[in-house]
Amino acid sequence: MRASVVFLLLCSSLVWGQPIPPTPFELEKKQSLPDSRTIGDYLTTLDTLSPRARLVALGTSAGGRPIQALLLSESPPFLRDFVGEPDKPTVMMFGSQHGNEPSGAEALQRLARELVAGEHPELLHRLNLVLVAMANPDGRDLRRRHNANDDNTNIDYVALQAGETRLLVEALHRFDPDVVFDAHESGIWKRVLTRELGWMTDVEAQFDVGNNPNIDGPLRDYTESKLLPELIARVSEAGLAAVRYRGEITSLDQAVSRGGLGITNLRNYAAMQGRVSILVENRLDNKGGTYATPRNIAERVRKQHLSMLAMLQLVADEAEPLLTVSRRARQQWQSAGAAGRTLWMGMSFDVNRDQPEITLPLVHFADGHQELHRFRNRDAIVTREPVTMAAAYAVTRERERVARWLASHHIAFETILEPRELLADRLEITEVRKQPEAQPGVREKVQPEVMVNREAVTLQRGDLLVPMSQPLAPLAALMLDPRSANALYQEEGWNWLQPGEFPVFPVVEY
Ligand SMILES: [Zn+2]
Repeated sequence: MRASVVFLLLCSSLVWGQPIPPTPFELEKKQSLPDSRTIGDYLTTLDTLSPRARLVALGTSAGGRPIQALLLSESPPFLRDFVGEPDKPTVMMFGSQHGNEPSGAEALQRLARELVAGEHPELLHRLNLVLVAMANPDGRDLRRRHNANDDNTNIDYVALQAGETRLLVEALHRFDPDVVFDAHESGIWKRVLTRELGWMTDVEAQFDVGNNPNIDGPLRDYTESKLLPELIARVSEAGLAAVRYRGEITSLDQAVSRGGLGITNLRNYAAMQGRVSILVENRLDNKGGTYATPRNIAERVRKQHLSMLAMLQLVADEAEPLLTVSRRARQQWQSAGAAGRTLWMGMSFDVNRDQPEITLPLVHFADGHQELHRFRNRDAIVTREPVTMAAAYAVTRERERVARWLASHHIAFETILEPRELLADRLEITEVRKQPEAQPGVREKVQPEVMVNREAVTLQRGDLLVPMSQPLAPLAALMLDPRSANALYQEEGWNWLQPGEFPVFPVVEY
């Protein structure tokens, strides 16, 4: 009896007779953060030690650092050819997309170590995992939010300006995850709220999911009404107070809402591709506090790890319904609510009439006492400008550049080889205004006034035709249509929104 207990204990930390070493961060007694090269070496070690782990190169960062995915699976075809399994969700997890939020990378290494060592065995029986521990290795080594080029990859999912974003999008297509989990940390110390007004936010774990109203209806319903509340309940039960994300709170007189609705972030972008998409924001303690480890990093990693583990257990338990909605959404998009293929070009948060005010806890910076504060609640989503999805979109300007951009998104298109006449809704921009609701710190958008004229149009050789009979059609339409709040033309380097006939327009029949 005793011998078998000892044997089992040994097995839990050994794979094929090899001990699994602690992560570099654990080896440093959680007192300092290892650099990206040390982390890369550790992931290579896990790959070498375990037949259930495989390290895959995704590409390099702007600063020339490798970006890698560690695959963990009991399925040889998944490890060899990245082929998903019919009854197992593929979960792709991204750590530290913001370099100054390092605990995600550490929590993912710990998770990988545990799984390789045989802990949480039910997870690898029921899931295939793709862990991108360091989504932004430049930011890691340079101790900054952005990459070496100063790109914020976190809001680059429409423009795909940064190489990092392009390779992460490529990885989404390569591994085709059913679930995408994006791990962040949220600073509780804010310039105005804390330094000027004396308060800090008081949150441990905040979660949000894809919330753009154009996400496939059944997928969005399931994720928001079933998965998210259950995740929040489980994390709270595990001892970490979890809530739904309220957005950044930077002053006392602001309104609060939820995570942004735009598709420029990974959360909504991945959800528009038909994936369950979850964001966690764990507490990033303030610089001035006194902690057992620098800036409470050990505790922050513990919280992030707990959030990840609870998510994986929930996804494993929910495998069947989750796979049904997410895989169907990737085959064929359904608009929310009303029948038909309707897209909302405009959307924003507005006053929640059922609950116009809410109270949230804040902590007094000077003495640490907690107090409830009232905030205006603007978490109701208002949709504007419904547009019936066209048969296709035509592109008649900078066609080679647009073709490369479409290819980066894996959006299918056709290049016109000889003049072709078709029926189209030509879009004429009559006026361009600055968006009235632009908040300080949020990038400025412009709002075009658009007139629609249905007419016969002749496309010329070299023009592009983007058919809407593809699974990524709603994503493509939201980026290509100038009426859309997330049009490509709101991005730097694409400022095409000028009065006159617009060079990209819906095609009615072709
Ligand atoms: Zn972040």
